[in-house]
Amino acid sequence: SSDRKGKSRTPSYLTFDDIGGQDRAKNELKEALDFLIRHEEIRKFGIRPLKGILLTGPPGTGKTLMAKAAAHYTNSIFVSASGSEFVEMYVGVGASRVRDLFKEARSRAAKEGKDSAIIFIDEIDVIGGKREGGQHREYDQTLNQLLTEMDGIHTSETPRILIVAATNRKEMLDSALLRPGRFDRHIQVDLPDKKGRMHILQIHAKNKPVSTEASMERVAGETFGFSGAQLESVMNEAAIYAMRDDNPEIAQKHFSLAIDKVMMGEKTDRESTM
Ligand code: ATP
Repeated sequence: SSDRKGKSRTPSYLTFDDIGGQDRAKNELKEALDFLIRHEEIRKFGIRPLKGILLTGPPGTGKTLMAKAAAHYTNSIFVSASGSEFVEMYVGVGASRVRDLFKEARSRAAKEGKDSAIIFIDEIDVIGGKREGGQHREYDQTLNQLLTEMDGIHTSETPRILIVAATNRKEMLDSALLRPGRFDRHIQVDLPDKKGRMHILQIHAKNKPVSTEASMERVAGETFGFSGAQLESVMNEAAIYAMRDDNPEIAQKHFSLAIDKVMMGEKTDRESTM
C-alpha cells in the first residue's frame, strides 16, 4: 500500500511532554541528543559522533513516541520504517529500501531546510537478528546495507544523521549492530511505575470528560504491569462505557470495567497465540 512506501507517514509534532513517566529514559535520551545538537563542540573535542541509539523494552511503552519527540527536540526531519516491512521482500529489495530511507532523510532535510535527520527503525531485531548458522540469510543484505549506511555517516555532512532503533529483544541482535560507532548507546524503556501510570493516564485524559469523582491514583493502583499503550486503551474503553451509559462524564465504575476489558483482551490475545 502507499502507506507502506510512505516512510514519512508519521509527521512528528510530538514532544517529551506528551510522554508519561519514563523520566530516566527521557533524560538519558535528551543527554544523548545533545551530541547531535552540540556537533561543533563534539568535533572540536574529537569525540566520535553518536550514530545510533537503541531503545529497548517491552511493547507499547513509548519507544516510538520517544523517537518522534527526539526529532522535535533536535529540530530534525523524522523518517521511519519497521523491521517487519522487510519480511516479505525479495533478496536485494530490502537493501535498496534501506538506501532509499537514507536518501529520503537527506532530500527531505534539504527541502525543509533542516540540518539534521532522525531515522527511526522499529523492530530492528527482524532485520538485525543474529546471523549464526546461516539463518536470516534473506535479511543479510538488508542488515549489511544498514551497517554500510551507518559507517558512511560523517559529522561534517549536512544533514547530520542519527539512527534510533527499537526492539523488545535486545539479546537477539547481531553483535555487528552493537559495535562502537553503531548502536552503542542503549536506553531501557521500562513498564511505567505507579507514578508513571498516573502521568500517562493524565495525558490521555486531556481531551476527555473525566468526572472529578474518578481517581486516577486508584486507576494507576489497579493497573500494575500495564504498558502505556494499555493505559491509553483503558482511557478509551472507559470513555466508551460512559457513552454507552449515556453518562456525560467518565466515572470510576467505567474505569473498573475498562481495566477488566483490557486485562481480558490481553489474556485472549495470549491464549490465541498458544
Ligand atoms: P512497540 O514496541 O509495540 O512498537 P512502543 O514502545 O513503540 O511499542 P508506542 O508505539 O510508542 O510504543 O506507544 C503506543 C501508544 O501507546 C502510543 O501511541 C500512546 O498512545 C501510548 N503510550 C505508550 N507509552 C506511553 C507513554 N509513556 N506516555 C503516553 N502514552 C503512551
